[in-house]
Amino acid sequence: MDPKPLVAVTGASSGIGLATARAFSAAGHPVLMMARRVARMEAEALPRSVCRAVDVRDREAINAAVAEAEALHGPADMIFANAGLARLADISRQDPAEWDEMIDINAKGVMNTVKAVMNGMMARRRGTIVIMSSIAGRKVYPDHTVYCGTKFFTHAVAESLRGYLAGHDVRVVVVSPGVIETEVLSGVTDPDTLAAYRANKAKMGGGIGAEHCAGLILAAYQMPQNALVQEIVLTPTRQTY
Ligand code: NDP
Repeated sequence: MDPKPLVAVTGASSGIGLATARAFSAAGHPVLMMARRVARMEAEALPRSVCRAVDVRDREAINAAVAEAEALHGPADMIFANAGLARLADISRQDPAEWDEMIDINAKGVMNTVKAVMNGMMARRRGTIVIMSSIAGRKVYPDHTVYCGTKFFTHAVAESLRGYLAGHDVRVVVVSPGVIETEVLSGVTDPDTLAAYRANKAKMGGGIGAEHCAGLILAAYQMPQNALVQEIVLTPTRQTY
């Protein structure tokens, strides 16, 4: 029997997801790492990790990866529904294909991820579901239109699930970061929006290291099961909006 339970992370190949996988692994947990770039996760070589090429748009792929990791390491006690992308843009110029992509990955992908573990956690009357939102899930920005929509969606889902799962002793944490230093800007295809974002970020003195966000998620998880950190909001000190 593993001394610490299995945890699962989507979007574990870079940024906040990878930092969170590393943090839980360092704390002694076997980690199921899911993303499309499996070689990057395998290169981490985290002890007892299970790395699976999963696109969060594919419900069956998430279910299969979770079932496989649970067969090896026992039930997942935490899942971080983190995978996402930010196709920030001037909405009048944006290709609607980018709307579809964000809605399918950031919004529906979170539901697919939660669904893979929720019933098991309810049956065991324990578990922690961590849902990635954003500061853009609390306020709107003119060049974040559909991205904000997806993050308001995950925020609302997290709040609703928290109420639904409270009576089952399953915790729901929503994470709402401001500017974090990751590969997220690689998803911005609109050059003007990218330039404006970079200029604002420079004014803030840059983003926060992803490991700090991961540390807060681990600390929230390590609270006693009857104590819930409902939301983590982490921004650069100079980020005022
Ligand atoms: P990164 O680009 O570094 O990481 C994004 C991760 O999501 C990658 O591991 C990527 O893996 C994965 N991913 C993207 N699409 C899919 C998919 N279809 N299926 C499976 N995995 C996918 O950026 P971040 O770490 O910043 O992003 C993580 C989350 O944090 C996102 O939801 C983002 O919106 C949110 N966020 C980020 C902030 C920031 O400032 N960085 C602020 C607020 C929220 P792969 O490509 O290998 O599949």
